[in-house]
Amino acid sequence: MAAKNPIHVTVTGAAGQIGYALLFRIASGALFGPDQPVVLRLLEIEPGMKALEGVVMELDDCAFPLLADIETTTDLNVAFNGTSWALLVGSIPRKAGMERGDLLTVNGGIFGPQGQAIANNAASNVRVLVVGNPCNTNCLIARSNAPEIPADRWFAMTRLDENRAKSQLAQKAGVPVASVTNLAIWGNHSATQFPDSTNARIDGRPATEVITDTEWLQGDFLTTVQKRGAAIIEARGLSSAASAANAAIDSVAAVHHGTAPGDWTSLAVVSHGEYGVPEGLQFGFPVATDGKGGWTVVEGLTHDEFATERIRITTEELVGERDDVADLLP
Ligand code: NDP
Repeated sequence: MAAKNPIHVTVTGAAGQIGYALLFRIASGALFGPDQPVVLRLLEIEPGMKALEGVVMELDDCAFPLLADIETTTDLNVAFNGTSWALLVGSIPRKAGMERGDLLTVNGGIFGPQGQAIANNAASNVRVLVVGNPCNTNCLIARSNAPEIPADRWFAMTRLDENRAKSQLAQKAGVPVASVTNLAIWGNHSATQFPDSTNARIDGRPATEVITDTEWLQGDFLTTVQKRGAAIIEARGLSSAASAANAAIDSVAAVHHGTAPGDWTSLAVVSHGEYGVPEGLQFGFPVATDGKGGWTVVEGLTHDEFATERIRITTEELVGERDDVADLLP
C-alpha cells in the first residue's frame, strides 16, 4: 500500500515546556496512529528560536520514521501554511499585578493575527486546538478573526481538567482510571470550571452511586481539580507540562479517531445555545465525535441545583471575558 501523505501539524510556542512534551509524541505517532506521517510546523517568537533549534536537534536524534519534515519559523504565514491541525500553545503567562482584562488584551494581540493567518494559509480541512490560557477566550478571539473557517473547527482545551477529575474519582472509588467514563467539564478552563460528577459513570454505574460521599464530591473533589495546576507548581517548581501536552494529544485524537459509543470527551466548542449557554461562547461541554471531524454537544443531561449554579457562574465568567475583549472581536 502506498504511504499516506503527511498531515501538517502546527505547534505555536514550540520551544516552551508544553511544546517540549508535545512534539515528540506527535512525531512518534501518538496523535494520528502508527502509519500516518506528519510534518511539524513550529512557530516561535524570536527569543525562542535558539531553544527551538535545540529541540529540533533532539527530534532529529530520535529518527522518528513518521516525521517527514520539520519547519521552524517566526512567520505566521509559514507556520500555518497547509496545516490541518493548529495547536495554539504559545501565549503570554499572567504576571504579578496583571489584571484578567490585561491578560486577555495582551493575548488578543497574539490570537487575532493567528486566526487571520490560519484563515489565509491553512489547509481547507484545518482544525484548531487552543491550549494557551485563557484558552476559551483566546479561541473565541482567533475564531472571530477567521470567519472563513467554520466555527465548529475551533476547540479549546478542557481535557486536562477531565483527566484530572477522572483520576480523582478513580482513586476515591479504588478502581482503575479506565473505569471512569462520561466525565464532563462545563464552562471555562479556569477556577470556575465545573467537573460534573453527577453525570459521570464508574464501570457503567452512576458515579454518585459508587461514591456516596456528597460532601467530598461537592467539596474536595472540585477544589482539587480546580487547583491542581497550582499544586503542581508548588510541588515541582514549574507548571504542569507533560499532562497538558498529554491532554492536547487526547483532545485531537478524540476528534480524529472518534469517541466511544455512549461516552464523550470534554472540549470547549462554539455554543449553539445548548443548555441555555449564550450562542457563540467557546464553552466547555461534553462532546461526542464521529471520527470524521464531526461532533455534537451531548444533550439531555440533567443538572441538580448545585450543578446548575456552578454552570451559571462559569457561564457568567465567560460572558465577562467576552465583554472584556469586545474590541478584539471583529
Ligand atoms: P508553557 O509551554 O508551559 O505553557 C504555554 C501555555 O499553555 C501557557 O499559556 C499556559 O497558560 C498554557 N497552559 C494550558 N494548560 C496548561 C497547564 N495545564 N499547565 C501549564 N500551562 C498550561 O509555557 P512556556 O512559557 O514554557 O512556553 C511558552 C512558549 O511560547 C515560549 O517558548 C514563548 O517563546 C512562546 N510564545 C510564542 C508565541 C507565538 O508563537 N506567537 C507568543 C508568546 C509566547 P498558563 O501558564 O497561563 O496557565
